[in-house]
Amino acid sequence: MKELLFEKLQESYDDMVEIRRYLHMNPEVSFKEAKTAAYIADFYKQLGVNVRTGVGGNGVVAKVMGGKPGKTVALRADFDALPIQDQKDTPYASKVPGVMHACGHDAHTATLLQLAKALHEMREDLAGEYVFIHQHAEELAPGGAIAMIEDGCLEGVDVIFGTHVWSLFESSVIYYASGPVMAAADRFTITIQGAGGHGASPHQTKDAIVIGSQLVMNLQQLVSRRVDPIESAVLSVGSFVADNAFNVIADQAVLGGTVRTFAPEIRDLMEQEIQRVAKGTALANDCQIEVKYYRGYPAVINHAKETEFLKYIAESIPGLQGVEEMKPQMGGEDFAYYLEKVPGTLFFTGAKPIDAYPHHHPRFDIDEKAMIAAAKTLGAAAIEYQQ
Ligand code: MN
Repeated sequence: MKELLFEKLQESYDDMVEIRRYLHMNPEVSFKEAKTAAYIADFYKQLGVNVRTGVGGNGVVAKVMGGKPGKTVALRADFDALPIQDQKDTPYASKVPGVMHACGHDAHTATLLQLAKALHEMREDLAGEYVFIHQHAEELAPGGAIAMIEDGCLEGVDVIFGTHVWSLFESSVIYYASGPVMAAADRFTITIQGAGGHGASPHQTKDAIVIGSQLVMNLQQLVSRRVDPIESAVLSVGSFVADNAFNVIADQAVLGGTVRTFAPEIRDLMEQEIQRVAKGTALANDCQIEVKYYRGYPAVINHAKETEFLKYIAESIPGLQGVEEMKPQMGGEDFAYYLEKVPGTLFFTGAKPIDAYPHHHPRFDIDEKAMIAAAKTLGAAAIEYQQ
């Protein structure tokens, strides 16, 4: 069964490339991917596959029923692009000014569409049900996943698999990690309201710059003195604004920063402790300090059993360049929300081209052959999960 699937995927390579390049030339930014969604839906309609559009926004969900009873396996691909000007010199560079598929979501879509086609053709001999989740808006919080889940895309689903191509990882190598694989990425803004005045009369003021400086230093102790050293956390203050004439004491200062964590309890701890330290600093200085904490996506936590399963399956797939364990990445991904509801794993597919640039770079590109490795691994996992 798997051999037939691999053969079909190999044969579909030219179509995969064609779809990927079409999407690459016609990118749409998060929450505005209506044409891409219609393109995906049309693909399924032409195959005669049951497809639901407008799922939680621009989301598209297709279903293929196997000929025998079994489990329901969901496979997810995102399809939004980024507000970046494409600077590549390739015939398939973006035709839309200021918009570009700079994260490989076009490749995810092409991979999943051709895999769905192959599974649809084989459906009589397959057990179970296959749910193809084409997700909009991964790049922009609150993201598309949460709305698609609320709109029922995971109903009846027993397990979910997804992959992310990675331009800096060796092409066609499958990278897996159990537990946290991508971080929770949160943002905060802190407003220190002091009392401004003449630079020569500090005793009549509450200096927002001095208080803000104290607060920046106090916050440094959260990671070094409040977080268990075995856990991971980052707190970075990236912005400190209090613009005044040189002889004026600042009335107000505004700090902006980011918090990255893996464990949910460390994330909660960081948020609580920022509030506590801000409150204490305000009390010590007899001023007002307001903290606004914005939660981004939670950490992507891969389930151990499903990750082990995926690794085991990948190791037997012909044509891959290897199967390796990876270190967690500090980026964010809203695949996290699916994994909060059902077991599964997000793995990475190495896709390093000859001229490799990082994700979100204006010259980002991938080795398209990695799409076959991704499709084979997702497909084999889906089929084998029925055993
Ligand atoms: Mn991405």
